[in-house]
Amino acid sequence: MGALTTFPVSVKVEGKRIVIVGGGLEALNKARLAIKTTASVVIISRTITEDFSAFPVAVHARPFTASDLVDAALVFVAEHGPDGEAAKLAAREAGVPLNVVDVPAECDFYTPSIIDRAPVSIAISSEGDAPVLARLVRARIEAMLSPNLGAVARLAGSLRDRVATLLSKPQARRFYEDLVTATDPNVEGLLAAHATDAAGIVWLIGAGPGVEDLLTLRAQRLLQEADVIVHDYLVPDAVIEMGRRDAERISVGKKKGHHSFTQAQINALIVRLAREGKRVARLKSGDPMVFGRAGEEIAALRKAGVAYAIVPGVSAALAAAADTATPVTLRKVSSGFVFATAHGADSEELDHWASLAGSGLTLALYMGKSIAAPVAGKLMQRGLAAATPVGIVVNAGRSDRSFHRGTVGDLAAGSASFADGPAIIFIGAAVAAGDWQDAASLAQAQFKVA
Ligand code: SAH
Repeated sequence: MGALTTFPVSVKVEGKRIVIVGGGLEALNKARLAIKTTASVVIISRTITEDFSAFPVAVHARPFTASDLVDAALVFVAEHGPDGEAAKLAAREAGVPLNVVDVPAECDFYTPSIIDRAPVSIAISSEGDAPVLARLVRARIEAMLSPNLGAVARLAGSLRDRVATLLSKPQARRFYEDLVTATDPNVEGLLAAHATDAAGIVWLIGAGPGVEDLLTLRAQRLLQEADVIVHDYLVPDAVIEMGRRDAERISVGKKKGHHSFTQAQINALIVRLAREGKRVARLKSGDPMVFGRAGEEIAALRKAGVAYAIVPGVSAALAAAADTATPVTLRKVSSGFVFATAHGADSEELDHWASLAGSGLTLALYMGKSIAAPVAGKLMQRGLAAATPVGIVVNAGRSDRSFHRGTVGDLAAGSASFADGPAIIFIGAAVAAGDWQDAASLAQAQFKVA
């Protein structure tokens, strides 16, 4: 990432002068910016060629003198010639920040593109060759802002003390949000409504397999509304970044072998945060209801009487099916799809899966990468044909995904090595209908090692 060579600041100009030396079009353009402020704007030039009469500026048709800089906050030199030169010298002497129009090398400061919703201003600066980009950015931001934002900001300023006494911090944030988005806000009604809305809420949100664009629109909207984001380790930063910038972020990093928070601690945490009146986005990888410990969290929330809602997400197996164009249900081949966990399966479960896969259903095994070989072996012992197709997707949905294919027999041989990352193991006849062209062969892996 490149570093900035300029530092954006807002210069105080109230009660001061902005001096523009020049009387042509460039001077007029700078005057147009300067009059957005409360500064007294002064135009000085022997040759005034533009019509400044529509602007609240003082026009002096005379040479520049150094005393013109008394009380000046900023100087623009918008003409080349003796007056321009004199003004540059005088500005440097007096230490008044100088902008020489179209001569960046001589400028102490540049003027940004300004979006004016006084008392709120947004300045967009671009360095080097980016002005086109800056214009684009400006257009986008303009489109996002309501024209009466300034009025709302003034209103908000006048309400600050009352808001502080009446509302908690999360309530205040929501109040301001409503104030900004309402077209004709009923201030008293909003204040009263938010003062009584003390209840927090927990949203169990599916983050999908780990890329921003597989988040649902609802997930994204709620992440923007949340006061706190509580996330698992499988949810990557890029997805968490879709949340509100100033939302508190808590990683409860449950990683295989590393339980930084126990499930009981997570339950207690989300209940406590909601009781503080916060809106909590509990962000889980994939879909929250699939191997997401959602059951425990929902039970804790119900018991505590905390409001909650669930937002579905793209579960890893579905991302894996998409990556490999594998129709997990397929007419005459696979009449069903089973989300199962390989981890901790007992012999009865294994019996069951072996018969399901044997009858054509597609199994998606979660949490099974490290025990793939023994699980495949056990399924074979329970009668699953060694030739049953297997497909494995590591890091499904992500740019670093990788694929393996072969049979249950190949997998049971146990010689395949997988890339780092979570994996889905598909077992079943429908796997053969997918597009596994980029997949490494589980059988070849065996030969390589042998
Ligand atoms: N709720 C999640 C599952 C969480 S359990 C979901 O619906 O996807 C964690 C397991 O999910 C991992 O062991 C792995 O089997 C699977 N998993 C999660 N993200 C994955 C991804 N991007 N690619 C492949 N498998 C993934």
